[in-house]
Amino acid sequence: MATLLHGATGEWEMVIGLEVHAQVTSKAKLFSGAATEFGAEPNTQVSFVDAGMPGMLPVINRVCVEQAVRTGLGLKAQINKVSVFDRKNYFYADLPAGYQISQYLQPIVGKGTIILDLAGGETREVGITRLHLEQDAGKSLHDQDPSSSFVDLNRAGVALMEIVSEPDMRTAEEAGAYLRKLRSILRYLGTCDGNMEQGSMRADVNVSVRKPGAPFGTRCEIKNVNSIRYVQQAIEYEARRQIDIIEDGGTIKQETRLYDARKGETRSMRSKEDAHDYRYFPDPDLLPLVVQDGLIKSIAESLPELPDEKKARLVRDYGIPLYDASVLILEKERADFFEAVAKGRDSKLSANWVTGELFAALNKTGRDVTDSPISAAKLGGLIDLISDNTISGRIAKDVFEIMLETGKDAGAIVEEKGLRQVTDTGAIEGVIDAVLAANADKLAEYRSGKDKLFGFFVGQVMKQSGGKANPALVNELLKKKLAG
Ligand code: ADP
Ligand code: MG
Repeated sequence: MATLLHGATGEWEMVIGLEVHAQVTSKAKLFSGAATEFGAEPNTQVSFVDAGMPGMLPVINRVCVEQAVRTGLGLKAQINKVSVFDRKNYFYADLPAGYQISQYLQPIVGKGTIILDLAGGETREVGITRLHLEQDAGKSLHDQDPSSSFVDLNRAGVALMEIVSEPDMRTAEEAGAYLRKLRSILRYLGTCDGNMEQGSMRADVNVSVRKPGAPFGTRCEIKNVNSIRYVQQAIEYEARRQIDIIEDGGTIKQETRLYDARKGETRSMRSKEDAHDYRYFPDPDLLPLVVQDGLIKSIAESLPELPDEKKARLVRDYGIPLYDASVLILEKERADFFEAVAKGRDSKLSANWVTGELFAALNKTGRDVTDSPISAAKLGGLIDLISDNTISGRIAKDVFEIMLETGKDAGAIVEEKGLRQVTDTGAIEGVIDAVLAANADKLAEYRSGKDKLFGFFVGQVMKQSGGKANPALVNELLKKKLAG
């Protein structure tokens, strides 16, 4: 995989760091009891605290704190037993209080790591700088009326985890792998649903370029990108834009940019604020947050098997390739499906069918494994027919297609269509004789040394048998005949 970009002055390297806002899975908001359900009528889930009414006091939601700790443990990160909520001051119509409650110098979670699963089963570690808790803002609606804008405060005050990575990524693919892995970890943990279309996971993408080995260049931050594909496209575009500017003798201004997915380009939104512009200070309405050892311990004990552990176990217990395992663990439901298929069966064959035919079919129709038209038991039934030599792998693909369409059992399809593999030596020999008789010229050529024609005869025999002859037997019997 090419990691460097070419420019007029030579090669360039991209440097990428991601800030992900992940909505905490919780029934109530971070500092109020208002509901958090997606898609509710505007302004139906707003408490006085969320509306910034004077004199209202925030009360921390214990569940949100536990979710942040759980996420921190899932990222193998340090949990800070004391953290502090700060006010980040700025004016915006969808921020009625005039400040966002966030964590600045003392976040609840410190350094951690994410392991990226790359092509071919390769892995790479990316550092997590921190995870902090903060409130989401409301939403301005500019497209409802020709002369007015509206504000929907349903989202105001919803708990977010901001997860900041180190600038450790070097390609757009790595950024994609990072987001996929982070999303799986959050989903396994049940701390964020990871739904990027609904905005419950959004990425700010920091990109700079440098000559390999040189110090980091100035970064631009592309705000609120809401799909992994767009993140990758935005990175490619932005790196190229920066290289062109520098090679033309210009300099990069640190700024906040937006990605326009329709045009496939980033454009300037505003020059970047520095932290001091926000006048951060500890929120006087909130005491420092203290997380007790007992709570950390009990959350640690309740963690499920996480993607990396699952990957290691699948490789160890089933002997499947690392790459297959890394594809399976991306969604817990996929790994569960595989394990249900592989139970008591040839595990490599099972992995091939699940990650190959089945996932390709699901991708084509945009379905999740949870609504697979072929259940694990039924796919297992098909694999059994291959393993006991009832059908060949070739015929199995046809049976699979029919299963996709009809939902029928593999066994029933094989009987109905008469697809049973022919293992009767006499029958196959008959076909071979017919093929050799019909191709006397080729047979003569073969006998005079054109060995390559062996494949031709195999092909003909398979064809004449309607694909049903056992390929191993065909090879064996054909060799005997031709030798004789
Ligand atoms: P801010 O809130 O101002 O964006 P943060 O420190 O929260 O600052 O986030 C900085 C993000 O930018 C991190 O993800 C970090 O990895 C990334 N970053 C820092 N320096 C660079 C750089 N030179 N090139 C690319 N990304 C960078
Ligand atoms: Mg930022």
